[in-house]
Amino acid sequence: MSDFYIGNHLSSSKGYAAMAKMEEKLGGNTFAFFTRNPRGGKAKDIDEKDIEKFLQLSEEYKLGKLVAHAPYTMNLCAAKEDIRAFSREMVRDDMRRMEYTPGNYYNFHPGSHVGQGVEKGIELIVEALNDILDENQSTTVLLETMAGKGSEVGRSFEELREIIDRVELNEKLGVCFDTCHVWDGGYDIVNNLDGVLDEFDRVIGLDRLCAVHFNDSMNDCGAHKDRHEKIGQGKIGLEAMKRVALHPALQGKPFILETPNDDDGYAAEIAMFKKWHLG
Ligand code: FE
Ligand code: FE
Ligand code: ZN
Repeated sequence: MSDFYIGNHLSSSKGYAAMAKMEEKLGGNTFAFFTRNPRGGKAKDIDEKDIEKFLQLSEEYKLGKLVAHAPYTMNLCAAKEDIRAFSREMVRDDMRRMEYTPGNYYNFHPGSHVGQGVEKGIELIVEALNDILDENQSTTVLLETMAGKGSEVGRSFEELREIIDRVELNEKLGVCFDTCHVWDGGYDIVNNLDGVLDEFDRVIGLDRLCAVHFNDSMNDCGAHKDRHEKIGQGKIGLEAMKRVALHPALQGKPFILETPNDDDGYAAEIAMFKKWHLG
C-alpha cells in the first residue's frame, strides 16, 4: 500500500503515537485529528517524547501526510473583533505546534461572514492569513470546500480562488476537497465528476488540491446542509464514491473519512477503499 492514502478522523486525546497505532489497527495509512478541542480553547502541551515516538511509527507504518483539522469554532471572519483575534491566535499557535511534525497539512473552514457579506468575509480571511503565514513554515494550510450552510465562505471554487489569489504567501495554501460539502454546495459529482474536477482545475488549479474529505451526504446536491453519511449509504452513493476514489486526478492524495462511524465502521470503509484500489 503505497500509492494511495486512506484514513479517518481520530481522537487526539492520547497523543500522536496513539493515533498512529490506532490508524494502523484500522488499516489506514493517514489520519486527521483536531488540533485542540473542536469547540476551541487551549491545546494540550506538546509532549516531545510522544512526537519522537510518532515520527518513528510514521516511518515504520509509511504514513502519508496528516490532515490536521482546526477547531470548528474558529472564525477568521467573525463580525466581532475579539473572536477574530482569538481565532487568529489559535491558528498561529497551531502553526507553531504543527512544526513538531513537519510537512503536514492543516485544514480549516475558511469562516462564516455572519451577515457581513462574502466580500467582507474574504477580506478578513485574507488579512488574517497574511498576518499568520510564515515563509519558513513547512505546513501547508488547506482551505476546505464548504457546503454553503448559513453564511459559510468557501461555498464555491471561485470564493476559494479569490482567497488564494489575495494571500501573499499563497505557496503555503492548498485546498481540501470535501465530497459531501462539494455535493451539498451544488457540484454534481454523481453525474459529472469529470466536469466538476475540470471546473476545479480551471478555477483553482488541480495542483492546489492536496487532500480529500471522503464522505457521503444525507442530502441532495445543492442542499447546502452538510450532513455526512456513511460511504454508499447517502445521496452520493457507492458507485459515485468509488469513481471519486479511483479518479486519476485524485490519486496519491490523502483521503480522510469523516463519516458517522465507530471503529469497526471505519475499518470496513478503509478495507473497501483498499479493495477498490487493489482490485
Ligand atoms: Fe471540516
Ligand atoms: Fe470535511
Ligand atoms: Zn462537513
